[in-house]
Amino acid sequence: MRGRVDQVKGDQLPPALQDKRFKGKVYRLAELVVDVPSLIQRLADLAGDGLLAGQAIEPFLEDGILVGLKVDGREIRAQRIVLSAGAGTAALLEALGLTQPAMQRRPLHMIIAKGPSLKPLYAHCLGGGTKPRVTVTTHPAADGQWVWYLGGDIAEAEGVAREPAEQIATAQKELRQLLPWIDLSTTQWATLRVDRAEPLQSGLTRPDNAFLAEQGRLLVGWPTKLALAPDFADRVIASLARDGIQPGPAAPLPELPKPPMGVPAWEQLLP
Ligand SMILES: Cc1cc2nc3c(=O)[nH]c(=O)nc-3n(C[C@H](O)[C@H](O)[C@H](O)COP(=O)(O)OP(=O)(O)OC[C@H]3O[C@@H](n4cnc5c(N)ncnc54)[C@H](O)[C@@H]3O)c2cc1C
Repeated sequence: MRGRVDQVKGDQLPPALQDKRFKGKVYRLAELVVDVPSLIQRLADLAGDGLLAGQAIEPFLEDGILVGLKVDGREIRAQRIVLSAGAGTAALLEALGLTQPAMQRRPLHMIIAKGPSLKPLYAHCLGGGTKPRVTVTTHPAADGQWVWYLGGDIAEAEGVAREPAEQIATAQKELRQLLPWIDLSTTQWATLRVDRAEPLQSGLTRPDNAFLAEQGRLLVGWPTKLALAPDFADRVIASLARDGIQPGPAAPLPELPKPPMGVPAWEQLLP
């Protein structure tokens, strides 16, 4: 809320809030909504034939020094190795025999709702606490319906402790109280347990920057927010530039197995 906000009213309101029973105040934040599947597709296109689908990633050591990675037995020598596997990074570090940088997980129990009465809404619902009571993002499902992905306070500690059925009942109660004009009778529900992965920190402060640690040829980090992924990339590029790292002569790559596109959680859980 410290960012730039403008109050919106009437037909400027998001469609899901356009009802005479709506009593709250609505402010528009100057933030982007990113279509994540198309972002991933674009990154994959840009990566071209440099993408390799692998199962087993092991360190490639020479005289005890890390000189690259072995992916399913394929030896890849590299001037620099960047690990950015989100929650998977801790296990990769362990495979490399490293304990630093330490990672922490913050578990969430998200709720997924899909139904013909849901309209696009991207919003934080602020209550009295320091965290948003509910945060909603909307995603198009393959069958043309809209999916609401609900998080915020409801998905934090108490939500993590709830069983899925209880968590769904809590979300239904919240939505009936907050948005009683939305017909939930045909809505399908699921929950998703997912961890945020970030560098271990003391206290509850949240990072404002991407995190990158360097150790010889190895760079390891977490953007901590998708919005900070460009900051993460800038930090990697600055490190390469500082050390004068240039791509080596291009050799033709063999035909490599390509990773398939991921399938959004809602398509898996509510097909
Ligand atoms: C519920 C939720 C809501 C969020 N909402 C927002 C938001 O609104 N705005 C925002 O900016 N950020 C948000 N974030 C944070 C954002 O999702 C992450 O910061 C971002 O995805 C981090 O990107 P990443 O590529 O580092 O990690 P990830 O997106 O986690 O990707 C890591 C990838 O590495 C793969 N991987 C893991 N281990 C291995 C291995 N050993 N070998 C090969 N591959 C491996 C994984 O399968 C995964 O595909 C949210 C996070 C959560 C959990």
